[in-house]
This record gives sequence, C-alpha cells and structure tokens, in this order.
Amino acid sequence: MNIIPIQQWFDDLKDIKHILIAGPCSAETKEQVLQTAKGIKKIGKINAFRAGIWKPRTSPKSFEGVGEIGLDWLAEVKNNYGIRTIVEVATPEHVEKVLKHNTPTDMLWIGARTSANPFSIQSVADALKGVDIPVLVKNPVIPELKLWIGAIERFYKNGIQKIAAIHRGFYPYEETKYRNIPKWELLIDFKTKFPEIQIIGDPSHIAGKRELLEDVIWMFIGLNLDGLMIETHYNPDIALSDKAQQITPEQLDTILKKIKFRMNDTDDDLLNSELKKLRFSIDSIDYQMMELLSRRMKLVRKIGLMKKDNNLSIFQLERWKEIVKTRLNYGDELDLDRTLVKKVIKMLHQESINLQSKLFKNGNNE
Ligand code: PEP
Ligand code: MN
Repeated sequence: MNIIPIQQWFDDLKDIKHILIAGPCSAETKEQVLQTAKGIKKIGKINAFRAGIWKPRTSPKSFEGVGEIGLDWLAEVKNNYGIRTIVEVATPEHVEKVLKHNTPTDMLWIGARTSANPFSIQSVADALKGVDIPVLVKNPVIPELKLWIGAIERFYKNGIQKIAAIHRGFYPYEETKYRNIPKWELLIDFKTKFPEIQIIGDPSHIAGKRELLEDVIWMFIGLNLDGLMIETHYNPDIALSDKAQQITPEQLDTILKKIKFRMNDTDDDLLNSELKKLRFSIDSIDYQMMELLSRRMKLVRKIGLMKKDNNLSIFQLERWKEIVKTRLNYGDELDLDRTLVKKVIKMLHQESINLQSKLFKNGNNE
C-alpha cells in the first residue's frame, strides 16, 4: 500500500518523530472539554486533541456521548488553542456530520468495535470516498491481524492514503491484569508484514487503570511505535466514561517528561560494538536453546511411544502438577518472572501433548 506517513499529513507534523494525541474519553460538557484542552495545550507538545462524542458502549445503560454538539466544542478547542482535533466516527451519518460542520475535525479515528465489523467499516469508508482526511484505525476487539488490515484496506481502496493504525489491545474474556490484552506478538507481526503502516499506541485502553498506564507506555516505547494516544481529563474522578484509566493533563506532562522515545539506530561506534557483542551472546544462547528444545522433543517422542505400547494416557495430571511446581521453583532460584516460566512450561507441555497425540493416531512408525 502506498500510505502517506503521519509526518506528511500536515505542515506542523513535518518534523515530529512521534505523534502525541490526548484528550478525554468522552466530551461531556463544553467546560470539561475546554478546561482539559487548556491543560493539554500547556504541555506544549501534544499534536492533537481527542474526544469521543458518539460512544460505542458495551451496555446501552452507559453514557453514549453528547452527539453532534460536541463538534462545536471541538471547533472551539481548535480555534481557541490552535490544536488539531480528532473524533471517532462509526457510521456514514457521523462522517457526514463531521464533514458538514463549519470547522470539521482534522482527523478521524475508527473504534475497536467498528473495526471488527466489515459492513460498518465499508459504510464508513464509502462515506469517505474522495475526501482527503487522515483516518486512524484501531485494532478490532478480536485479535485477528487480517481483520485489522482488512479494515485499513477498505479505506485505502476508497482513496484514503493518510492512514495509521492504533493499537488498543484485545478483549480478554478472563480476568486479566490489563483491561485489554496487548498481544505484543501480534503487533510485531503487524510491523513485520506491513512496515509502511505507522502504529500509534493507546496505552489507556490497554491499561484500564491509571496505575498501570506507565508500564504500558514503556512497552510501547520499547517497540518503537510512531505515537501515543492517551486519555486525559481535567478531573478523571468525575468522568462519565473510562474514569479509572484517565489522567490529568499535569500527570500526562510528568509522564511525557520522564519518557524518551528511542532512536532506531546510532552512529556511536563504541555503543554499536558493545551492542554487537551482546547480540552475539544472545544469538549463541538462542542456538543452545534450540538444541535443548530438539533434545527435549526427542525424549517426549520416546515417552509417547512407550505410553502407546503400554496403553497409558498421554496427559498425566500428577506429573503435570509436579512439572509446574518444580519449574516454578527453579525459576525462582534463577530470578525469572513466574508468569514467563508458567507461559513457557505450558507451551512446551502443550506441544508435547500434540506430538504424542499424533503418535497415537499414526502408529509406531510415525
Ligand atoms: C475510545 O477511544 O474512547 C474508545 C471507545 O476506544 P475503543 O474503540 O478502543 O474501545
Ligand atoms: Mn475510552
């Protein structure tokens, strides 16, 4: 795809390395919008002000946004503070209302629930045919890369070239630490397969709680993304939506001062040679891990054949419990994170079961 990078969307974005978007989850009142915008303007490095006015809420009992009047408030933000604005659109009617306003917002974003539905995406993309406006497409709530890319392609096919993606995490059915699971591996896949599409991190919707926000931001910085969208409210405790995850403009300022975006490369020879050495060690460890893995799988296969010959079941609960317990203990001694150890062990165990099941199905000669 021939996508136009963020830096070429507007003159004032020409020299930025990362786009920073901040603003409340929802526009609630004119005062709340303007007061929040005032705080955001003061930070001095926020490139766009966000606010949802049509809110796609899970329950119809939740606050569903102020609607069209919010466009007037966003226009005031733009006119009073000279900050670019961005709003969520989910239907052709929303698009029409934004575009017909005397001060249309500068950009549009597509929400995670909308991205999950190709019919909705197509109708919004059709409403935008021939319009030159940047569109930021959030990942769908379900972790499917093809669905996310499909949504982006629908806009691209209709002539929109100023496109970026927003990573806001994926819906977890179980109780998890984060409100939405980041699935970093999916993001890395995205970056590998579609390097031309820039990705903006939305740590607010991943974290779900302001206490976890900074951790998620650091992960995004580590992945060297192209920007951040952070929910900001002048008084988060009285917010009508997503109040637990919003922060004040002052808190945002503090966080932004603390973080430094990383550079991709460096000309520093000493640093480069140090990095090279460390990477060489990592390479060597990875090769050793592969060898160990191969040896482990060979043993699993041997055991599988013995189980088959003696009519023993593949999964043995007591053995599994012992594996988890002893490996977690090893991990503790080696100062390894317990979640990591559990993940690795579960994955290895699952692979072993898969291999042994195949042996049972295919006979001894397999
Ligand atoms: C939002 O940005 O406030 C929002 C509704 O996000 P998402 O679509 O990611 O849930
Ligand atoms: Mn929100």
